[in-house]
Amino acid sequence: MPSLTNAKKHPSQSSRGLLLINIGQLLTLRLPTPGPRRGLQLKELGIVEDAAVLCLGGKIVSVGRTKDALRDPWLRKNRKKIVEIDYERQVVLPGFVDSHTHPVFMNPRLVDFEKRISGATYEEIAQAGGGIRSSVAAVRGAGKSALSEKVLQALREMAAQGTTTVEAKSGYGLSLESELKSLQAIRDAAKRWPGTVVPTLLGAHVVPTEFQSRPQDYVDLVCTEMIPQVAKRKLAQFVDVFCEKEAFSETDTSRIFAAAQQYGLRTRAHVSQLSAPGEDFIPSLLREICPASLDHMDHVRDEEITVLAKHDTVATLVPGANYFLGLDKFPPARKLIDAGVAVALATDYNPGSSPTPSIPFVLSLACTHMKMTPAEAISAATMNAAWSLRLQDRKGSIEPGKDADLAVFDAEDYREIAYWVASDRCAFTVLNGMLQADH
Ligand SMILES: [Zn+2]
Repeated sequence: MPSLTNAKKHPSQSSRGLLLINIGQLLTLRLPTPGPRRGLQLKELGIVEDAAVLCLGGKIVSVGRTKDALRDPWLRKNRKKIVEIDYERQVVLPGFVDSHTHPVFMNPRLVDFEKRISGATYEEIAQAGGGIRSSVAAVRGAGKSALSEKVLQALREMAAQGTTTVEAKSGYGLSLESELKSLQAIRDAAKRWPGTVVPTLLGAHVVPTEFQSRPQDYVDLVCTEMIPQVAKRKLAQFVDVFCEKEAFSETDTSRIFAAAQQYGLRTRAHVSQLSAPGEDFIPSLLREICPASLDHMDHVRDEEITVLAKHDTVATLVPGANYFLGLDKFPPARKLIDAGVAVALATDYNPGSSPTPSIPFVLSLACTHMKMTPAEAISAATMNAAWSLRLQDRKGSIEPGKDADLAVFDAEDYREIAYWVASDRCAFTVLNGMLQADH
């Protein structure tokens, strides 16, 4: 375990600054070329051995070798004023960016879990009143502070596994009031957590029961009430749509995205998870809207991959959902990467299909089930995930000027992070300069 000097007395003081020394492997993720990581770039982790990182005021101010850092005249003068941690040869990397999560729900879906074990499909569970709709009643009935507590608990669990930035979707309210309440719960939780939260409106998750016979009226509600209200109150940065046969059509998706753009909100979509959309849909979406991210992509076609490789739209893969749903097939990560698509990885933390807060587990799945290398998986869950949230200037790599978001793993080699399955090896996280020493 690393030894802390001064840190125990001041576990969360960013103002004092932090000096990390004797890091065995520092994964900077620094590359000379800008843009999301594609192809062979995903394997370049910018490793510095015997490294040191200095953070002040929540930002990274210098990165280099320990012996050089300790000779620095400023540091020699000010060393007593900062919290110093000797990492005794551990691995330090940029805090993970979990770019796809659904944390605003009250209860685990244990009945669905058992139904699926006995053979029911996702669609059958939804038709039997389970699935997303079964989380809606609890969210509608819950107070904002109870929801906020749930979100905060999820954020803390994520941080305990190395995550420092989280995209958090609403989507279990499905009424103007309950979607606003869900986004306010995210905002309240974010204020009480030292990491960074990016809120997303997912009013278009499924059509709620009361709109079943008139789904277009619900799309109207999303476009003409939810999006304007959310934009006015600055409650979300993104608008997401679950584009799928059981949820929203391609036409609905385009309409909702047009409304999002009109109100200055960015876009991302769940697409090609259970089935492929029409052949022209993804190319025209890229041409006309260019969403920041298209997520799941299990059924992506070769022609779509070719077009996607020419855009900065990130393909966010969430293999935790495939694992939890017990699927044999996983998204075609190799094909996407080899074609030059910018691929990210995220947990898809949600009560129905991926109840995991753990990016290390997702990295493991990416390696074993999608044939990504540990280096590719780490790039996908840091730099490219930051790109998918358009936070690439602040997050995803360890460079002077970026936010002081770090994850420290009890390992000698970074490949161990993906190797030890379901094993919590994250020793510390630093979130915007705040050291979280006690998980
Ligand atoms: Zn999702």
